[in-house]
Amino acid sequence: MTLRIVLVEDDDMLRERVLRPRLADYGFEVAGLASAAELERLMAATVPDIVVLDVGLPDASGYDVARGLRARHPRMGIVMLTARRETPDRVRGLNEGADAYLSKPVEIELLAATLHSLARRLHGEQAPAASGWRLLDNGWSLAGPGGEVALTKSERRLLQCLARAEGEAVGRDRLIAAVADNVHDFDPHRLDTLVYRLRRKVADACGQALPLAAVHGEGYVLTSLG
Ligand code: CA
Repeated sequence: MTLRIVLVEDDDMLRERVLRPRLADYGFEVAGLASAAELERLMAATVPDIVVLDVGLPDASGYDVARGLRARHPRMGIVMLTARRETPDRVRGLNEGADAYLSKPVEIELLAATLHSLARRLHGEQAPAASGWRLLDNGWSLAGPGGEVALTKSERRLLQCLARAEGEAVGRDRLIAAVADNVHDFDPHRLDTLVYRLRRKVADACGQALPLAAVHGEGYVLTSLG
């Protein structure tokens, strides 16, 4: 099932050049709107699953919009974005019915993880069990013993390829073929950079090293991914 996600953000550059393309890299298709009035018009025709809402909109306060959305649609996912970092604002956002409250500049990985977790709630799925490593959300999230992390398109392809090998080493060529959109344009060093960044991000988010190791002269191996 495809999620209908709407992003209401009046900063065109941030919305169209940063948030939508970067969320697309994390597997989310997001419609972009620039005002509360545009959201009202859209909602007259269709109800999104999740609304990502800037607090500072030109024609309304995001808090008021959130309160109105929550009153009408108790199950809708609401994520608020704001440049304001003060605690009272954070509490207020949650009081108005938001499920999550993220500060600008938005960490895309955190936003993606929040969207995955809301999507699971909307689909009535249980939170992942707290042991072992597993791919969730059709491969777009990795859950580890101490937490979970949203994956980009390349990271997802890499981990799916390694997971299919079920603990056997996978050669560099095969990994590159899995990861690259065009193998001939792909600098082989990018594979190592991708692995390096993925390991670091997983260690940060999950509090434990991903069991992904280099096999000298061959490629990489991923052990114990369920
Ligand atoms: Ca704004």
